[in-house]
Amino acid sequence: MSIRVLVVEDNPLNMELVLAILEDFGEQLSVTVAGDGHEGLQRFLELKPQIVLLDMQLPGIDGFTLARRFKEINAASIIVGLTAYAMVGDKERVLEAGCDYYLAKPLEVAEFKHLMKVLMETEGLHEK
Ligand code: MN
Repeated sequence: MSIRVLVVEDNPLNMELVLAILEDFGEQLSVTVAGDGHEGLQRFLELKPQIVLLDMQLPGIDGFTLARRFKEINAASIIVGLTAYAMVGDKERVLEAGCDYYLAKPLEVAEFKHLMKVLMETEGLHEK
């Protein structure tokens, strides 16, 4: 059974890059997208995704608020915060909001792929 992945990202180019990378995992992943915070929350409720790739800067509801909501709704969902902020302490803020992992944008393709593999293997998601 495919792992349910939700990508919440408002920037079309970033979304395109994320989807291109996820495509390499083929049918192991079932990917749903959302382009703003409200849509992200709606899709989360519908999908109960096992992995969320969450842009922290979103229109509607920001990623920090969404991460908190997602963890309240389903603490087992793994949330990967994506942020373009190059600020000191930003990583801590992202993790404090409830994200389990953090990736800085622009995304490093190899780093992103490696994290996905780790999540799929160590979280045992491939068995579900
Ligand atoms: Mn954004």
